[in-house]
Amino acid sequence: MGFNKAFNDLAKSFSKFPGVGRRSAERMAFYILKMKPEEVKDMALKMEEIHNHIKPCSLCNNFSTKDICSICSDPKREKDVICIVEEPKDIMAIEKTSRYRGLYYVLLGSISPIEGINAENLNLQKLINRLEKKEIREIIISTDPDNDGEITAQYLIKLLSSYDVKIYRIAIGVPLGTQIEYIDSATLGQALTERKAIA
Ligand SMILES: [Zn+2]
Repeated sequence: MGFNKAFNDLAKSFSKFPGVGRRSAERMAFYILKMKPEEVKDMALKMEEIHNHIKPCSLCNNFSTKDICSICSDPKREKDVICIVEEPKDIMAIEKTSRYRGLYYVLLGSISPIEGINAENLNLQKLINRLEKKEIREIIISTDPDNDGEITAQYLIKLLSSYDVKIYRIAIGVPLGTQIEYIDSATLGQALTERKAIA
């Protein structure tokens, strides 16, 4: 394989990362060229390791090295309160606020009409199972305060209203067009405390 092809293939791989355009992807590929061979090996190994050892928690879909994640298996957490988020990184953001002691449920996405993702693509079965077993008293919907997050929240409110559960929406207010992970800890903590009762 010639240099150009090898370089372009690598840059193309980097351009798949979120927020990385063609120029940045090329800079990353150049950087790899300048790295020491053992550094490249170490990086590749870490990527492989995270893939082999981290899997979704079988209860909440959070990233975990075990079948059940550290939050779901923590005896000090409130087991009957569930905060629904789009991605595992949202859990990290909410945990940083230290204002929440319940469990989570990760949708692994949101409804997005533009991207053709609809309600059937959301990972809801494990949550429904727990609702049917009446294990949940309270649900806080913390999808992103953007368009897709709001559509997802409205869908969830409709779906969850048929169960005997209190439903809240995180109080970020009118859609701000942002994402949970970018909201500062103080504002996010406040939004959790002031959550709005929906049903
Ligand atoms: Zn879990």
